[in-house]
Amino acid sequence: MARPILLAVDDDVNVLEAVVQDLRREYGATYRVMRAASGQAALDTLALLKTRQEPVALIVSDQRMPGITGVDFLERSRDIYPETRRVLLTAYADTEAAIRAINSARIHYYLNKPWDPPEEKLYPVLNDLLEDWQAGYQPPFEGLRVIGHRWSLRDHRMRSFLSRNHVPYRWLDIAANDIAGNDIGGNKDALKLLADRQFDPDRLPVVLFGDGSALVDPEPEALAARVGLSIQAAQDFYDMVVVGAGPAGLAAAVYGASEGLRTLVIEPEAPGGQAGSSSRIENYLGFPSGVTGADLGRRANIQALRFGAEFLSQRATGLRIDGQYRFVQLANGREVSSHVVLLATGVHYRKLEIPGAERLTGRGIYYGAALVEAVACKNEDVFVVGGANSAGQAALHFARFARQVTMLVRGKGLSATMSKYLIDEIERTSNIVLEAQTQLLEAIGEERLEGMRLLGTQGESVVPASSLFVFIGAAPGTEWLPSTILRDEQGFLLAGPDLRADGKLPEGWREPREPFLLESSVPGVFIAGDVRHGSVKRVASAVGEGSIAVQFAHQYLAGF
Ligand SMILES: Cc1cc2nc3c(=O)[nH]c(=O)nc-3n(C[C@H](O)[C@H](O)[C@H](O)COP(=O)(O)OP(=O)(O)OC[C@H]3O[C@@H](n4cnc5c(N)ncnc54)[C@H](O)[C@@H]3O)c2cc1C
Repeated sequence: MARPILLAVDDDVNVLEAVVQDLRREYGATYRVMRAASGQAALDTLALLKTRQEPVALIVSDQRMPGITGVDFLERSRDIYPETRRVLLTAYADTEAAIRAINSARIHYYLNKPWDPPEEKLYPVLNDLLEDWQAGYQPPFEGLRVIGHRWSLRDHRMRSFLSRNHVPYRWLDIAANDIAGNDIGGNKDALKLLADRQFDPDRLPVVLFGDGSALVDPEPEALAARVGLSIQAAQDFYDMVVVGAGPAGLAAAVYGASEGLRTLVIEPEAPGGQAGSSSRIENYLGFPSGVTGADLGRRANIQALRFGAEFLSQRATGLRIDGQYRFVQLANGREVSSHVVLLATGVHYRKLEIPGAERLTGRGIYYGAALVEAVACKNEDVFVVGGANSAGQAALHFARFARQVTMLVRGKGLSATMSKYLIDEIERTSNIVLEAQTQLLEAIGEERLEGMRLLGTQGESVVPASSLFVFIGAAPGTEWLPSTILRDEQGFLLAGPDLRADGKLPEGWREPREPFLLESSVPGVFIAGDVRHGSVKRVASAVGEGSIAVQFAHQYLAGF
């Protein structure tokens, strides 16, 4: 298999040579290093590589070049290789160009020249970027393959589970011909594989492993075990059990484990939580060119593992309190015990309550599925419902693949509900259309979504539609918790000062002290992130609360 390519671009021969040498020295064994002496030459090279289907992992380009500048070149390179990591080389005085590059060319990093010593100033940055690229790169190997049907909820769930756990797979969609009207690959391969291996095409998805074994329509737990995720706790007792591995739970795991607490994290999906479905978080401190939620989740997961935290691929279904011990019950019928429990279960997407929505979920209607489904919507028309940041990010992400993205918004516009930087970018994106003051009345279709009945400013209309992505807010899923954990009318959990009603602590509170800031109505059970009543629904605040909760856990444990 051809090694992925690193492309260096600079009109100054000496600088170009220096970049190439530095790249070769560190990455020559794994990557092929190529060079181009101008933006135009680099674009020609990329076009040629594309026709040969060669993978390009990284482009490092100088900014000041005659003809096409580095920013313009990098922007145009996105059309050819959208997933390639883009780095701009600038002089110190070029900060403005660098900021423009982040906004328009969506570069992943800018480096000031000179970068000596490269071990300190160049390689750590490039290692990080190449690791990100590798995480999303699916080399043409015969590894794990999923044969499924695009309009099946189970197929969608399985692909989502694999992607978010960073398990590379090749998807063979047996419905590919039906939607595009022509052969876009996959279909014939899929049917042949099913026939060769005598699998029933009515029992999908089928997961084929590299060693020839297969799982037919497996439950997540069976799949988790097969791809090497842990489904059983290594110990019976932990200092702290964290329920949920979104930003709040991951932060608690990193701080808890790094400070010596035996920490277990329970998460049935993949580390990253809601943020994991975000195509680009732009307002999280320290990532000037944004970071995908999946990358953030992956990095935090590795960080927590490094400090010794344990992760369990399970859902918590109950919480039992017995004296100083807290028992978290799991979906497989087992339980794990600890002194401290941190509930960081976040929120889940609010469902569309219109006729047809339930029947067609996973068959054209998706919740928060921007990353998994985007490629399947190539050259199609896509609809996004919702006017908040999550809907805006999804629309921008789809716009890279779809022919047109239509945003359906109930309000008069986006300004009251969406951040300005996203609104500006949506306005700059020519294939996004905004349908304001529009309400969805019905989803039409039997086997899959075929159309929608809308109520807009011109009255009712029916429009054809095959993909509808829903981002209309979220609700906490806290029904599984005992009633002793107090909550508000919407189910968000009360903690710290919010536990006082009319100035009084809850009747069940027996401690001679006030509840700690993030402590629930049950001592030793803490709350962090979006699931907490009154929380700010942001990655940074969830991370902050997760880490602060660990400090209170220490104080609580000190009382034993
Ligand atoms: C599409 C999208 C884009 C966003 N963009 C941004 C942005 O740009 N900037 C920003 O600051 N914020 C953004 N947000 C908001 C941000 O993602 C959330 O505020 C943040 O993820 C909250 O973190 P959390 O850990 O509290 O909960 P979550 O991220 O919701 O994580 C909770 C985790 O708990 C798990 N869980 C739930 N129930 C159980 C159970 N019973 N047992 C075990 N595990 C369970 C879930 O599977 C989930 O992984 C975005 C949100 C979405 C949906």
